[in-house]
Amino acid sequence: MSANAQIIKTQVGIVGGGPAGLMLSHLLAKSGIENIVVEKRDHETIKNTHRAGILETGSVKMLTDTGVDGRVLTDGYEHEGIDLRFRGESHRINFKELVDASVYLYPQNEVFVDLAAARERDGGDVRYSVSDTEVLDMATDTPKIRFTDAEGNAFEIHCEILVGADGSQGICKWAIPAEHRTDNFIEYPFAWFGILTEAPPSAPELIYSNSEHGFALISQRNEKVQRMYFQADPNEDASKWSEEQIWDELQKRVDGPDGLQLKRGPIFEQMILKFRSYVCEPMRYGNMFLAGDAGHTVPPTGAKGLNLAFADVKVLFEAIDSYFATKSKDLLDGYSEKALRRVWKAQNFSYWMTNMLHTRKDANPFETKRAIGELDTVVNSRYGQQYLAESYTGWPHGL
Ligand SMILES: Cc1cc2nc3c(=O)[nH]c(=O)nc-3n(C[C@H](O)[C@H](O)[C@H](O)COP(=O)(O)OP(=O)(O)OC[C@H]3O[C@@H](n4cnc5c(N)ncnc54)[C@H](O)[C@@H]3O)c2cc1C
Repeated sequence: MSANAQIIKTQVGIVGGGPAGLMLSHLLAKSGIENIVVEKRDHETIKNTHRAGILETGSVKMLTDTGVDGRVLTDGYEHEGIDLRFRGESHRINFKELVDASVYLYPQNEVFVDLAAARERDGGDVRYSVSDTEVLDMATDTPKIRFTDAEGNAFEIHCEILVGADGSQGICKWAIPAEHRTDNFIEYPFAWFGILTEAPPSAPELIYSNSEHGFALISQRNEKVQRMYFQADPNEDASKWSEEQIWDELQKRVDGPDGLQLKRGPIFEQMILKFRSYVCEPMRYGNMFLAGDAGHTVPPTGAKGLNLAFADVKVLFEAIDSYFATKSKDLLDGYSEKALRRVWKAQNFSYWMTNMLHTRKDANPFETKRAIGELDTVVNSRYGQQYLAESYTGWPHGL
């Protein structure tokens, strides 16, 4: 420890102020459990980072029913289905009718704005712009977080429970000794070329389109800004594409006899999003617990990343709350196993959607036709549609 590091004591120390870290901090504070969040980015940068956009019903309820904010219901858009498109034909998967559920289109940066404002409103201790974060002594009763704050002052947080909510590029999971951790990992031979455009919506709901030219997702943000993606090579250089090339590429992947035309507009962000599936097992080491992307990553095709982060937090909050109320570690001991059950279900769904909808460069005609057979099986069967609808809108929390 630096000789001048100031020691701060708290009950729960949280690394990472993304959706997982801030939601956990909010729930703990509501229950009277002291906690501190350290976050390496500044508020403005997180607010302007565009990532996930689809919230399951359970995630929406966590925002509204725990007093974060009800803005998701007024500023978000309820979607009662998606459009699964292949051979240039649309097939609506009607969530409401199939499983009596829906999702909300509400961008992750708005979720951050709500959570950060709720922490500020309730006097939460969130330290942005920290650097040199380290976690140590996780296998003891006093795990610690070291960091340097925005003004260059060194601190050491001494806590009872340490939570690694520091996302897929974080430090916490790598601090678990290799012999206590299994890294389950696969990579995919494709990525998404993502854009943000100033244009009206091209469709009222998300379009997931399989085509011979590759996959495309036509998504929305609001009345003026839209989010769209098309399947690309992971090594593609997004900056080399002109707006016209991008629009032509997107259009040809949704072309069909119904004449669907994308509404074009100026593109103000274009980036490559690489795909990985990763699960760290267990999501715990000593008194450090992993939550959200720190413990697992899914490809975005199933819209599960942010939702899984919230689902972890729900289980972890209940376990920490029970520990401080009773001093029993039973629920904490069961956290990893319970969270991982949902994680693997979401991994399966994300993997299935990804492989069914994307095309492989090296696929032979058999594989390409088999994939269309799979899509046909889903849309022509109520059970197939129901499986997709149930998984997409999210299983009840705790299951
Ligand atoms: C580019 C991109 C696009 C995505 N698009 C989609 C999508 O379309 N649909 C979807 O469902 N999911 C998407 N995801 C996934 C989704 O955004 C994540 O699942 C979600 O953010 C998980 O929340 P989290 O709180 O676990 O992690 P994060 O949101 O990653 O938050 C972790 C936080 O920890 C902080 N941190 C990291 N290291 C340290 C450190 N050493 N010290 C202090 N703080 C640290 C980070 O700055 C970050 O703010 C996308 C992810 C990325 C990266």
